[in-house]
Amino acid sequence: MSLLLTGLAASSGIMIAPAYLLVESDLSVTQQHTADENHEVARLHDSFALSRKELQKIHDHAHQSLGKRAAAVIDTQISLLDDPTLHDKIIDQIENHHDAAEWAVEKVKNQYLKLLEGMNDNDYLQSRAMAVRDVTKRILSHLLDIPLPTPAALDHRAIFVANDITPTDTAQFDRRYVAGIVTANGGRTSHFTIMSKTLAVPAVVGVKDAATLIQNGDMLIVDGIHGKVIVNPSATEIEHYQLLAGKFAQEQQAWGALRDKQTVSADGRRFEVAANVGTVADIADAQENGAEGIGLLRTEFLYMNKDQLPSEDQQLASYKQFVAAMNQQRVVARTLDIGGDKQLGMVQLPHEANPFLGFRAIRVGLARPEILRPQLRALLRASVYGRLAIMFPMIATIEEFQQARTILDEERAKLEAAGVQVADNVEVGMMLEIPAVAVMAEYFAKYVDFFSIGSNDLIQYMFAVDRGNANVSYLYQELHPAVLRMIKRVIDAAHAEGKWVGMCGEMAGNPLATPLLMGMGLDEFSMNSGQVLRIRSLINHLSTRQLQPLVHRAINVETAEKVKQLVKEYVPELKDLN
Ligand code: PEP
Ligand code: MG
Repeated sequence: MSLLLTGLAASSGIMIAPAYLLVESDLSVTQQHTADENHEVARLHDSFALSRKELQKIHDHAHQSLGKRAAAVIDTQISLLDDPTLHDKIIDQIENHHDAAEWAVEKVKNQYLKLLEGMNDNDYLQSRAMAVRDVTKRILSHLLDIPLPTPAALDHRAIFVANDITPTDTAQFDRRYVAGIVTANGGRTSHFTIMSKTLAVPAVVGVKDAATLIQNGDMLIVDGIHGKVIVNPSATEIEHYQLLAGKFAQEQQAWGALRDKQTVSADGRRFEVAANVGTVADIADAQENGAEGIGLLRTEFLYMNKDQLPSEDQQLASYKQFVAAMNQQRVVARTLDIGGDKQLGMVQLPHEANPFLGFRAIRVGLARPEILRPQLRALLRASVYGRLAIMFPMIATIEEFQQARTILDEERAKLEAAGVQVADNVEVGMMLEIPAVAVMAEYFAKYVDFFSIGSNDLIQYMFAVDRGNANVSYLYQELHPAVLRMIKRVIDAAHAEGKWVGMCGEMAGNPLATPLLMGMGLDEFSMNSGQVLRIRSLINHLSTRQLQPLVHRAINVETAEKVKQLVKEYVPELKDLN
């Protein structure tokens, strides 16, 4: 009998493949002693050797399919495993304290971590601590004979099933083998969900108990269009979904015809539909999918899986690739946006009760100029290779924007004084993600060149709803009239000052929101590449003028449900979406 599970449709498409569970096993150990030290030492040697072999394999795999950067994380672990001190300390516990091998490993791990935590103001030590945890986990897994999930060692296409997936996990995936993603936690806009769209694989999130109800190797159908997962489907179900998958592919092909045309509404208004990207590999996806620019370059991916901050020159080399590849199409780079659910091993952030309301994004940038300044210099230097815009994340006050802008101007002046060329046309804008800013938009609009609405955070803060929490995701309502009113305010305020407005949150790629955003006059839509052609096709045959009454009615109803009904009434082709 097949089992039907439901969740949130997070990345569209349909896939049928076996499940691969990415779930941490329980490796907890308790105090245990031994009377046979030699036996324990031999077990320890074996587990070191097996761990070494395994890590080497993962390393080679990562190097081959993901490049040097991903492999470097594993290098750190191998060098720790090869470090005689670690080994000798564990042996000492066994020989002189009669600890069983597992208990000796656990004790030495805790000693190391305590030591490292005592000196934890250093990024390098932080990544060392991560390596200690990972390596000891691997040694324990051999001693206890409980295998660890190793996604990098996977050699066939599979649907990844997990409780949570961190951005660092996704950065280590091998694109060839990730067929789909199912998670128990997470909402439509948590960061890994966004990454799954970048991988262009179907994803369903918030599937309660997915990781316990699904077993490794179970055949799965992931329906990322309707938010369904079918475990061990029947032959009839497989046939049905194969048909749906075919239809989906046909639609994709029809949209492909738009790739080289401009995005113009039926009544002749030009819109820009751009892509959100994180890695250089995403550029090709963006171009193949007909993106007319990059509306959000998430620079944080440059900082992941590294144990040191990237230097100015390393950053320049990377930004240059984005800017040059897009030619004269605009690339909007966002300065480092960490904190909240995006943690970087090497930039240590304080432990906070409410990280989404804490030290994050531009707050980190302004407090740590040694991070922000080199980044801005690298961006400015890259500006001569194409058409670059820079924006600051999570601006809350006019003073913050002015401070950030002053730092940018200072770096520009220093570069120019040193004879380094910087383009004249670099636009400087900000992400609009905080309700207080939307309320004050007419004032901000005087200072910025543009706004990019970060609807993911804006809605989270408007409804006091954690964007990654499946328990409250029902309150996360993109189409709520309150959201629409706020967005309309921002667009009107910016236009009154002659400034343009984009949107780079997930809402920009939601077809049900497109008619509303068009009607309000949003200038640029930026989304995951996989959505671009679909949204472009929709814009092409809608008329902005005819959408004005829809906007007027939508901001004057009481619920998101009523807005949805109105949209479907005006644009019947959207009637099957939810
Ligand atoms: C947003 O908040 O809408 C956004 C695009 O930024 P991120 O998802 O990276 O927080
Ligand atoms: Mg954000």
